[in-house]
This record gives sequence, structure tokens and C-alpha cells, in this order.
Amino acid sequence: MLTNDSRKVVLVGTGMVGMSYAYALLNQNVCDELVLIDLDKQRAEGEAMDLNHGLAFSGANMKIYAGEYKDCADADIVAICAGVAQKPGESRLELLGRNTAVFRSIIEPIGESGFNGIFLIATNPVDVMARIACTLSGFNPRRVLGTGTALDTARLRYLLGEYFGVDPRNIHAYVMGEHGDSEFVPWSQAMLATKPILTICEESDHRFCLGDLEKISEEVRGAAQKIIEAKRATYYGIGMAMTRITRAVFGDESSVLTVSSMLRGEYGQTGVFAGAPCIVGRNGVQRVLSLSLTDEELKRFARSCATLQECYEELHLS
Ligand code: NAD
Repeated sequence: MLTNDSRKVVLVGTGMVGMSYAYALLNQNVCDELVLIDLDKQRAEGEAMDLNHGLAFSGANMKIYAGEYKDCADADIVAICAGVAQKPGESRLELLGRNTAVFRSIIEPIGESGFNGIFLIATNPVDVMARIACTLSGFNPRRVLGTGTALDTARLRYLLGEYFGVDPRNIHAYVMGEHGDSEFVPWSQAMLATKPILTICEESDHRFCLGDLEKISEEVRGAAQKIIEAKRATYYGIGMAMTRITRAVFGDESSVLTVSSMLRGEYGQTGVFAGAPCIVGRNGVQRVLSLSLTDEELKRFARSCATLQECYEELHLS
């Protein structure tokens, strides 16, 4: 379990996502010790050097080095951003199979190290990979978190803030379900301060409408693809989302974040990992919040979970 005096993160996968996370951790002074691990050891070493050279310009006093899996023994958080990219013509399931092999090669030595902290998973498809990490590690599901729809929710709040001309921090709305095509926004639960957004639309004399809201949720769903077309990959946003989750854990914040965690009866779902608002603190997911979704929203959530369940079952893990 986490100790108060040390804040140690081991990062596995020092690619674009992993290093954006590391850079944000350093700039926000979120941990005291950061260990970098990658299949490409030289890359991890180079990244550690580069970050260390920036230490003098940051307010942080972090110990940063390229390490080994045995360094996970006393880590508080192991973040996994390692993965392989989709090959041309490769199916989603084939990619999933290869990423499962990557996770086996990572999680076994982490388990052998005696690691007893929290897993934070970002590798895609993140909901299924978080479930795989949970199965392979045998950890209590409450200590395995996927980044889920945390980034999608941040994108949604940003766009709604623009639309209503309001600070996104005063918008309370979530993207739920799979981090991917079947994700959705339960509009019945979206608020501007404490006022339901649907009521604001009704009272706005057509200035704001549900059609526009649906366009915004489409934009959120397509955002990653748009960024990939423009610059080949997305990484700053997810690195910052991971940093936010890490802060919530180290600060024992009990913050509401839409991470991907195992559902145990919430929304009528059991066993599947999916994005839903969760209370996150020192021990991982303290609780999954059961929002009062409408019947139609519950159906959408169930459809999203069914997609994730199918994907997981096709792997025949256990
Ligand atoms: P990348 O190719 O830049 O980095 C992947 C890294 O993983 C590489 O450094 C590679 O050497 C390492 N790696 C591969 N196999 C390994 C193994 N067996 N052990 C240790 N390290 C290994 O990719 P990226 O752009 O950083 O993306 C990483 C993952 O994050 C992808 O799966 C991507 O889809 C995902 N991602 C998730 C979100 C999200 O919202 N959850 C957003 C963006 C990207």
C-alpha cells in the first residue's frame, strides 16, 4: 500500500504517451521518484537523461532513472503505456492479441518484484487492456485503473465550455463507456453549475439545442482520429490525464474521474471494465458512482459494455 513519505512511479513504455506523462509529472512535481522502463533500454536511458537535464529548471526535486522491473517492488504506481502499433491490414483483435503478449511480458516480472501498489493503464484499447492487466496480475480490481474516458470527458467539458461561454470547470458532464466508438454522453446528467444542460437548451429559445450537443459528442468521439491525421499520434492530453489521476491517488483526493474500472453491479454490469465516474484516492477506485441514467442511456451503456465484453472473451484469457 502507499506510504506517505515516498511517491514512486514506475513507467513502462517510454514512447510518446509515456514521456508526455513523465514530462507532466516533472513539471507538476507530482512524484519524488520516477523509474523509466522500456523494451528499448537505450531509449529509456536517453529519456531519463533528457528529463534530468530539465530538473534544474523545474521546482521539482525528483529522482529520475532508467530501471528494471525489480524497481517496482516499492513503487506506489506502475503506469503502463507500452504497446505495439496496428500494422496495415491487421484486425483489432490481432492487435489486441499482440498487446496481450506485451502485457504478459511486463506484468509477470512486475508481479515477481512484489509490487503491491496501483496499476494505471493507458495502452489501447484501454478498457480491455486494463481488464487484462487485472486478470494477469491477480490484483484487487480496485487497484487497477484504465485511463478510460478521462481524456474524452476533458475534451467534452472544454467543448461545452466554448459552446455555452462558460469556464469548463463549471461544466459537469461525462463521457461514459468504452474509450472508443461506442462511448456516449448521458445528457440527462450534464450540468452547467447546478442547472441541467437540457433545461438550458429548452429555455434558450433555440439558441442552444440537442442537435448541437450531439455534434459536440461526435467531435469528442472523433477527436483522436483527427489529431492522428494531423500529427500521427495523440499524447499531451493523455499524459496530462494520467498526471491528474496520479495526483488524485497521491493526494488521496477522492476526486471524481471517469477512469475505466471493473463494474460490480453498477448500471447492471458485472466484471467488465468501462469508463464511468469513479471516486479515486490513495487505494485506487474507492467507488464507482451510480448516476441516475435514463433507460435509453442505460441501454447505450449496456451496448458499449457488450462490445468490450465480446472483445475480452475473444481472447480466451480466463
Ligand atoms: P509509442 O510507439 O510511441 O510507444 C510505445 C512504447 O512501448 C515504445 O517505446 C516501445 O518500445 C514500448 N514497448 C513495446 N513493447 C514493449 C514491451 N514488451 N515492454 C516494454 N516496452 C515495450 O506509442 P505511444 O504513442 O506512446 O502510445 C502508447 C499506447 O498508448 C498505445 O497503445 C496508444 O494507443 C495508447 N494511447 C492511449 C490513449 C488513451 O486515451 N488511453 C491516448 C493515446 C494513446
